[in-house]
This record gives sequence, C-alpha cells and structure tokens, in this order.
Amino acid sequence: MSNVLKKDAFILPEGVIYLDGNSLGPLPKGVAARVQKMLSDEWGQMVIRGWNGAGWMDQPAKIGDQVGRIIGAPTGSVVMGDTLSIKVFQALASAVKMRPERRVILSDTGNFPSDLYMAEGLVGLLAQGYELQTVAPEEVAGAINETHAAVLLTEVDYRTGRRHDVAAITKTAQAQGAVMIWDLAHSAGALPVDLLGSGCEMAIGCTYKYLNGGPGAPAFIYVRPDLMDSIEPALSGWLGHRQPFDFDLNYQPGLGIERMRVGTPPIIQLAALEVAMELWEDIDMNELRAASLALQEQFIFEVERDAPQLTLASPREGAIRGSQVSFQFEHGYAAMQAVIDHGVIGDFRAPDIMRFGFTPMYLDAADISAAVKVIADVMNNRLWDNDKYKTRSKVT
Ligand SMILES: *Cc1c(COP(=O)(O)O)cnc(C)c1O
Repeated sequence: MSNVLKKDAFILPEGVIYLDGNSLGPLPKGVAARVQKMLSDEWGQMVIRGWNGAGWMDQPAKIGDQVGRIIGAPTGSVVMGDTLSIKVFQALASAVKMRPERRVILSDTGNFPSDLYMAEGLVGLLAQGYELQTVAPEEVAGAINETHAAVLLTEVDYRTGRRHDVAAITKTAQAQGAVMIWDLAHSAGALPVDLLGSGCEMAIGCTYKYLNGGPGAPAFIYVRPDLMDSIEPALSGWLGHRQPFDFDLNYQPGLGIERMRVGTPPIIQLAALEVAMELWEDIDMNELRAASLALQEQFIFEVERDAPQLTLASPREGAIRGSQVSFQFEHGYAAMQAVIDHGVIGDFRAPDIMRFGFTPMYLDAADISAAVKVIADVMNNRLWDNDKYKTRSKVT
C-alpha cells in the first residue's frame, strides 16, 4: 500500500464516500485544535500584538513556501492571499504591463468561467484596444502568436479533467514572446507540478480543493524569481508596499514576492491552511499521482462494466487527465443527487457532467468499489427518476 494514504488524518463523515475533494477538500483533524488555539491564545489574549508576537504578518509567505514545495516553486516565490479570481486579475494585469506593445490575452473555452470573466473585466477596464481571445483547448498551442501579450490557461479542465502540456505550451508561448500564466486550481495537490522547470512567468491557484484548506481558504500566486523585483503589481495594496508602516503617500512595491500581497491576510483561515499543508510534508507527488491514476483506472473500469448508461467524458489516457473522472448522462443532475443521497458525494457541472474527484490521501480501492456499487444501483434501478432529485440547488 502506498504511504500517501492518511485516512486517519481527516474527519470524514460517517457513511459517506467522498469523491468531491477536487471541489472542497475534507477537514484535517488537526485544524479545529489549531484554530481554537489561535482564537484563544492569539486573538483572545494577544489581540493586536498577534501581528508581531504570533507571526501573523509572516503567514502569507511562510505558508506560500509550504505550497511552493509541492508545485516546484523555490522558497520565496509564492505568497498567499485573496481568492483565486482576484489572483487571475492580478497576474493578468501584471502580465499585460510586461508586454505594453501587445493587446490580446489568449485563453481557452475549457477554462473555468471566473478566469474568463476576470479577463473580460480587465480588458474592459484597460480599453485601448485590449481584447480576450478564446479558442478550443486542443487548438491553443497552434493559436499562440506574436499579438498575444499573455496566455492564461488552467492546466486541468474543471469539467472533463483534460490536462494541458504545461512545459510544451509554455515553450510555445515564450517563443512567440507572450507571458505564460498557469492556473493550478485542479493541479496543486493533485499531480506533480514543476513551475520553475516550466519557466512560466506566473502561476495562481486555490487551496480549498486538493489542499484541504477549507471553504474560503486563500489563493496563491507564484512569480518566477528573476521577475519578482521588476513585476508591476496593479493591485497595489498597502501590504505589498515596501514599507507599509511608513504610511507613505506613494506606492512603492515591496521586495520579492511580498509585492503581490494586497491587504490584510485572513489569519484564521491561514491557521487552518497551515495545518492542512503540514500533511503534505512527507508526500511524494509522484507516488500520489500513481495512486490517483490507479484509483481512476479502477473507477472507469468498474463504472463502464456496471453502469453502461454513463459515457466517459474525460480523456481515457491517464497521462492527459488530472485527478478527476467525469461521465456524461442526460439526467446527470438528478442522477448525482440520487448518488449523493445514497452516500457517495460527487458533483454536477452543467449541462450533463457527473464529476468525481480522486484523492489518494483519504481514498482507497475498497472505497472506489463501494462507490461504484452505489452508482450502479442508482443507474440500473433508475433511482434518479424521482422528483425530489430534480430541483436544482444554488450550488451544484
Ligand atoms: C475553483 C476555480 C476558481 C474559483 O475561484 P475563486 O475565486 O476561488 O472562487 C477559479 N478558477 C479555476 C480554474 C477554478 O478551478
């Protein structure tokens, strides 16, 4: 058995097989005590003295280094803060300033809508002929040209799990003179990432999915070390200033990755994330990837054998798939509600995708077989065909 399995380190609800860690990771056991201690000993007793005395001000860079370790980023090149949508805007705004003579941002139609919405918002604000261009994911590499200021892509498609070739696309983008930004929302904690080796200029991602930081956990941003002291932060908040407590009237960017900070960091949420990140310290990402692929292969094999009503929507080849498997089914929403009601939690993405995430830190082969049994029961006995499963909730 692989040593990436640490089921005991998590609180997993009784009677549930959790295949949705790609959307919101479960609660690591140590979080409650750490957060409670932070509240009682730090906020409760130190009050404002906690910023210095409990090291709150250093948390964004310190935890950034913990995240950096599993995405191939050197110490001092990652910092935490804000939400991923904000980090998309921040990275893009800096990227277009690096290529002032160019006007086009390239992305793909498989990207998560928020990334595209933030890019649209930015080009609207910049005006001056800026535009966002999107092409099909398969066409991205061939579409990159010398009009592109920046290429913004999410490595793993949130809907299908299809995976881009980070190294190859980065090379192509840079050969055309574009700045490459990778969104690692579905990569960080899911598969090995070699940011420094890829040479990309920037990367961003969230920590509540595979990293188990909890709902609302802060996002991260990486800047390639040689660019850190020249990159211009458009979100020029006071905590990215070189000397925030000089209260200087003019903005002067801080040194290194600190300049990508914006405002007051979420200290309670960072306390939870710090505990969650400690679980990664002895994880070998190659081992984790191998374990994830084994679970996915087993799942695909058993679902196709036992629930033939479902059609695989993810790439069949493991190497070009992230850590999730999606199936298409006409009544996918109702079917997923029925599956959840019977103890297997996955999620649904419009229009007809049933999505399942694989997280070898707390799932094993027996869980996969038990989950497929439930899915097959729902499909073969049409348990989904019930009015109570057909009304859509706000969050799907
Ligand atoms: C999950 C996800 C987001 C969500 O952004 P938030 O600001 O954290 O809500 C954005 N982009 C991608 C690619 C995602 O997968």
